[in-house]
Formats: sequence, structure tokens, C-alpha cells
Amino acid sequence: MYDLLIIGGGISAMVSAIIAKRRGKSVIMLEKNDKIGKKLLATGNGKCNMANIMPVENKYNTDFVYPILKQYSLERQLSFYASIGLLTKEVDSRYYPYSEQASSVLNALREELTKLGVEIVLNTEAKRIEKGFEVCGYRAKKVLLATGSRATFGADSGYLYEKFGHLNSALRPALVPMLTANDNLKGLRGVRLKAKVKLFADNRFVGECYDEVIFKDNGVSGTAIFNLSQKLARINYKNARLTLDLMPEYTIDECRDVVRKLDGIEGIFHKEIVNNIRRTTGNDINKMVEKIKCYVLDNAKLGSVELAQVMSGGLAVKDFDILTLESKLCKGLYASGEVLDVDGECGGYNVMWAVASGMAVGENV
Ligand SMILES: Cc1cc2nc3c(=O)[nH]c(=O)nc-3n(C[C@H](O)[C@H](O)[C@H](O)COP(=O)(O)OP(=O)(O)OC[C@H]3O[C@@H](n4cnc5c(N)ncnc54)[C@H](O)[C@@H]3O)c2cc1C
Repeated sequence: MYDLLIIGGGISAMVSAIIAKRRGKSVIMLEKNDKIGKKLLATGNGKCNMANIMPVENKYNTDFVYPILKQYSLERQLSFYASIGLLTKEVDSRYYPYSEQASSVLNALREELTKLGVEIVLNTEAKRIEKGFEVCGYRAKKVLLATGSRATFGADSGYLYEKFGHLNSALRPALVPMLTANDNLKGLRGVRLKAKVKLFADNRFVGECYDEVIFKDNGVSGTAIFNLSQKLARINYKNARLTLDLMPEYTIDECRDVVRKLDGIEGIFHKEIVNNIRRTTGNDINKMVEKIKCYVLDNAKLGSVELAQVMSGGLAVKDFDILTLESKLCKGLYASGEVLDVDGECGGYNVMWAVASGMAVGENV
């Protein structure tokens, strides 16, 4: 009989296991893959953007996260990393391992798990939780579901708690490129720029973000698009549209003055943007300025799960204690990380939540 059985071997599970084991609890972890931490290796393009120095307020879909993020703050997370022998650094408000290798984070976590003697059972997928509790033949006083999501790869295993009365809402890809009508994309593949992007659904304003946009054959990607996809994933709509302000620092009148003064847009934008705009506007300065200030991409849709960094949806947070993450419906059950209906913006906020929530469970089981 273990004190804690953890389903999943992602970062949330590993942090929780380390903290619980340091407190003297016996811990077993079941992972369906042949390795733990596979998704962690893919984060931040293999560099692992693990946290952010900016305030966390308004970075998530729900206020539920804030008490835990306050308790297990950036400082506490950084001291946790130091306690497993990992050096971190800040680059433009984002935290990374000093090596800029996600594998350094995984190695440090794995070594600590081994040092502490946490039992890890690989190639073992939990398909049922028997009351009491028993999972895959292992018995435990408490169970933590830390199964993440199937974004890019992985599994949606929130259904395991449905039999205990937990709501597990439909999942949609979030932090994902968007597909759009491609009539405005000709020649732009691979072009990157910073723009103020607005999202409208059925002609209603949904949100805006000023950040990087990357053009693709069939749509757009980049941080601005990812952050807006998180909002689109939460609403029902028939038609969505993106508008890009390519010179947000200038008002429309200032923009017209600049274009007139420079006698064109060649000295302002990437040549493919120039060609694209010129194709429909010719030499008409007013039309050029209109397009610069409101470049329309119609028929915007969320890209596929295989391209998503997180899933929006999951286990309803209202059924879990706001500080301990223990189920309010069945004593002894806990959930942490992305399996809960929590998603954050780009910038390290999702790993931050996975770690903070893992710490909360580890300290309270
Ligand atoms: C390509 C990519 C890039 C990303 N980049 C960033 C980034 O830079 N910064 C950031 O903050 N976030 C990033 N994210 C998001 C972040 O990686 C996740 O939010 C975070 O890893 C979630 O951690 P977790 O421990 O909750 O779940 P996961 O890391 O998904 O781990 C869950 C584990 O549970 C296992 N599992 C699932 N079901 C079962 C079952 N039934 N039985 C046994 N095992 C099971 C899975 O195999 C998996 O190993 C990125 C995601 C992707 C896909």
C-alpha cells in the first residue's frame, strides 16, 4: 500500500513525487510511455521555457490558478529547481535552464527521483481506478491524476475521474496555429513580423495581441496567433476573422505621412509583404495604408491537435480544493497540471502551472 500513486510521468507528476517523497511518503508513478517526461523535452523548441517573470494575472483562462501560483511563486519554483541541482536563467522575461536544453531539466528531475527512490513503472497505462484505491494492480491511499493532454502527443485521461462524479469538459486545441482563407497569403510563407492582431468571431471583438506573427501556406502561427487561439478555443462561432495592424506604433494619419514621405513601402516591410500589398493596391497610397493598418485574414479556424501546445478544457476546477487540489467529490483523489481545465498563454505559463500544482499536491498529500 503506497501513500501516493501518481498516474502520468510529466513534469507535474515528477515535481509532486519529489516533494511528497521528501516528506517521507511512499510514492509510485505509472507512465504509459517507455520514458517519463517526453513532452517536457519538446517544450520551448527543446529549450524549455519553464516560467515567466511577468505577473501571472490574466495569463490563464481561469482565476482558480492564482492562489496556488501565489503560494508556489516564481521564487519558490526557482528554489525548487536549484534544490534538484538545476541552474536557470532569464531571457527577455522568460526563464530557461541555463543550458537552454530541456533535457537538462528532465535529467535533473530524473536524478532526484532516482536518488529519493521513487518507484517508476513504465509502459503502464491506467485505464481504470478502483475505489479504495487500486490502479493496474497497485494499491495506494491517495491518487494523483497528472496525465496532461494529447496536445501534439500524449493522452487525454481525465475520463478516469468521471466515475467519481467529476466533469471533464470537451477538449479543443489551444496555443495552436490558425488556418485561414489563403487568398491573402500569396508569397508570404515563412515571413515573420510583429503585428497587433485582433480576433473577431461573428463580427464580435474577442481579443487582441501585439506579438510575433509567422505566415504559413494555409494560415498563420507565432505567439500572437497562439495567444488568440486560446481565446478562440473557448467560444462557439460560425465565422472568425483576424485583422493585422502591421504598423501599430503609428496612427492611420501618421502611417499615411510616413508612406508618402518614403514614397512607398519598400523601406518598411519584408519584400514579400511589399509584393503582397502592392498586388492589390498598386501605387494607391490610401489603399496601401488601409491594408497596412487592417490586413484581413478571413475564415480563421483552430489548427489541429498535432500542432497544439495545450488543450483547452479538461477536469472542471470547481470540484477541486483551491489550495490542495484534493477532489471535493472523493477524498484522496487529486489532480494537477494540464489534465485540469487550465491553460495559460505562451511564455512558460503552462509549465509554471504544472510545477506549482504539482508542488501543491506534493505538500498536501
Ligand atoms: C510542442 C510543445 C511545446 C511546448 N512549449 C511550452 C513552453 O515552452 N512553455 C510552457 O510553459 N509550456 C509549453 N508547452 C505546454 C507544456 O509542455 C504542458 O502544459 C506541460 O508539459 C503539462 O505538464 P503535465 O505534467 O500536466 O502533463 P504532460 O507533460 O503532458 O505529462 C503527462 C504524462 O502522463 C502520461 N499519461 C497520460 N495518460 C496516462 C494514463 N492513462 N496512464 C499512464 N500515463 C498516462 C503521458 O504519457 C505523459 O507522459 C508545450 C507543449 C508542447 C506540446
